[in-house]
Amino acid sequence: MVPTVQGAAPAREQRGNANNGGVGNAVAVRCHPALAENKASIRGVVGELLASAGKDKSLISLGVGDASSHACFRRGGEFAAEAVADAARSGEFDCYAPSYGFPAARRAVADHLSAGARHCTCDSDVFMTVGGTGAITAITTVLGGAPGANILLPRPGFAPYEAACEIAGAEPRFYDLLPQRGWEVDLASVRAMSVGATAAIVVINPNNPCGAVYSSQHLFQIAETARDLGIPIIADEVYAHMVFGGSKFVPMASFAHIAPVISIGGLSKRFMLPGWRLGWLTFCDPNGSLKHVRTATEMLLNVTSGPASIVQAAVPMILSNEHSEFHRNVVNLLESAADALYRRVNQIEAMQCYSKPHGSMFMMVEINTSLLYGVADDIDFARELIKEECVLVLPGSVIGLKNWVRIFFGAPVSLILEACHRIELFCQRRTLKQNH
Ligand SMILES: *Cc1c(COP(=O)(O)O)cnc(C)c1O
Repeated sequence: MVPTVQGAAPAREQRGNANNGGVGNAVAVRCHPALAENKASIRGVVGELLASAGKDKSLISLGVGDASSHACFRRGGEFAAEAVADAARSGEFDCYAPSYGFPAARRAVADHLSAGARHCTCDSDVFMTVGGTGAITAITTVLGGAPGANILLPRPGFAPYEAACEIAGAEPRFYDLLPQRGWEVDLASVRAMSVGATAAIVVINPNNPCGAVYSSQHLFQIAETARDLGIPIIADEVYAHMVFGGSKFVPMASFAHIAPVISIGGLSKRFMLPGWRLGWLTFCDPNGSLKHVRTATEMLLNVTSGPASIVQAAVPMILSNEHSEFHRNVVNLLESAADALYRRVNQIEAMQCYSKPHGSMFMMVEINTSLLYGVADDIDFARELIKEECVLVLPGSVIGLKNWVRIFFGAPVSLILEACHRIELFCQRRTLKQNH
């Protein structure tokens, strides 16, 4: 649902142009205004950056969040492919899936979320979606479609939320995450900005793009704030349990008795299966205030399409607790990669990371552009870096923070170190030039 650079603009360019093969004076067909302009999206910007990549070095891509291409992260993960192959061979899953998902898949997610948790998730609280993005689209459509609605989003954040809001007709309103306070939510600003028709607040924990993992205490404060504002929390937990360095993942739903929680999860990140497009949306609403929201979600899912049946069939196997070895390996790899990246980045004069990531697969780094010749902002930084050193990072302005970059660390340590070496060379060259 992300509007890309290839969006819906061509129709406009053709209007009144006599040289385009007969369409000359045709009236341009109208379309959704939120999709009619070339808005910056992660995939759009990354596509443009990749097109300007230099040719004399191998590309190191730390721009988008997909570790599945690195064999080390897949070690011990064969069970997933076997489960889906069994499902395909059985012929029992060639049928349509029920609108909210197969009962066995919903039960597996409910059990998975309830294990060791303070709250209990029932099978009927779970809705299977096409990836985490499908869950984002669904809940934003349901909540954001209320007339005049706005939804509070974190800045820096995850671009699909903004796009989903605009498509749903809701106003995205951004609250700040505070770099000097471990990227915690600026709760004072949340209180100040939520007036009138706020439909929900989105909280991403463990956090993409900052790598923060929120304490129980902070989640409690978020829940209290949501309660005071009378709004539900959309808890994006696609990085659930991807934590290290002594941090603990606490589900937002632990505080659902304070404010209702709608959680988002999926197989894309922790299970390294982003292309399988399996996610879920779950309700935790002990006080019953989401009654209408739940019905509306069911109505929406009855007329839209869910994840592939054979992938749903594999969910009980994938979520079973027999794979601790696989998960331990992933977390260990991420921890070493985050440590290496944090240490090396802070050795580079023009770059600074204020807090070491404790989870997810991303780190935000501030760029001191005044030290770098020919680099006016984060977009320049990313473009010149990929041109000269073939290292892809995501410019922060795409996700709301100018003059920062987001660096993905779901890669082998050797590759992270090579990327840092190249970034250092680039920064050194740009610093030297200025001094001459
Ligand atoms: C990756 C991601 C998702 C979901 O992605 P899917 O690939 O659609 O499963 C949702 N939220 C955040 C913050 C993410 O990084």
